[in-house]
Amino acid sequence: AEKTVLIVYAHQSPKSFNCAVKDAAVKVFTDQGCKVTVSDLYAMNFRAVATADDVKGNLKNPEHFRYNEETSLAWKEGRLSDDIVEEQRKVEQADLIIFQFPLYWFNVPAILKGWIDRVLTQGFAYSLQNLYDNGLFKNKKAMLSFTTGGMESMYLPDGLNGDINVALWPLQNGALRFCGFQVLAPQIFWSPAHAPNDARVALLEAWKARLRGLLEEKPLSFAPTELFDL
Ligand code: FAD
Repeated sequence: AEKTVLIVYAHQSPKSFNCAVKDAAVKVFTDQGCKVTVSDLYAMNFRAVATADDVKGNLKNPEHFRYNEETSLAWKEGRLSDDIVEEQRKVEQADLIIFQFPLYWFNVPAILKGWIDRVLTQGFAYSLQNLYDNGLFKNKKAMLSFTTGGMESMYLPDGLNGDINVALWPLQNGALRFCGFQVLAPQIFWSPAHAPNDARVALLEAWKARLRGLLEEKPLSFAPTELFDL
């Protein structure tokens, strides 16, 4: 059946390498007959902060605002803010979500962190019964695709910055796998700003080649949830 791909994209400039990487993915998936949706977070002026404005109507406990409790109740009752509802609809429809961003402080840019904080609402994206291998999104795939300023050698386990996988753990395990996603290996574009143009063009070609087989890739393996007492 036709697959649906959501690209959650966080770069300010249409001239950026990140934009070229995103456009390559849109083209390859569209050519394959997939339905592709892009959430262009800066263009949408997406709100990054998790506040009481994310809930419509009366709060359950206005004395002590608890984001989790209030938003999960609002999700159940259809009272989440419209921008969150719209993103959740896109997540529901997606078979694969690609997060496309430049690495900021060993992490996602704040606007994308805000998407994670606000869209993956308790109840919608996870519950105490539905985590990791039993997660609500276990039939969906997700992956990180990002650029860095630093070179690959700096992100090796004995490199200046330390192992890139340490930086990826909170995102890949703490957020994506936590919600059940099958996490595909990250696509890392090392230091495109410091590479010659033909090297950048080659990186884009290699990305397109990977994209053509992406939906058939085996996900990363994590410790099976059954090993742990919940
Ligand atoms: P761009 O500068 O937009 O692009 C690079 C080059 O590619 C440009 O010359 C552009 O013209 C060219 N290009 C665009 N399109 C194409 C195309 N189609 N074909 C060929 N070439 C093209 N880095 C780290 O490693 N670790 C960090 O922790 C980190 N923290 C940061 C925190 C902040 C707040 C900021 C602002 C930056 C940080 N950086 C960090 C650096 C950041 O990750 C890089 O600047 C970013 O990843 C570069 O990607 P870009 O898309 O912005 O590159």
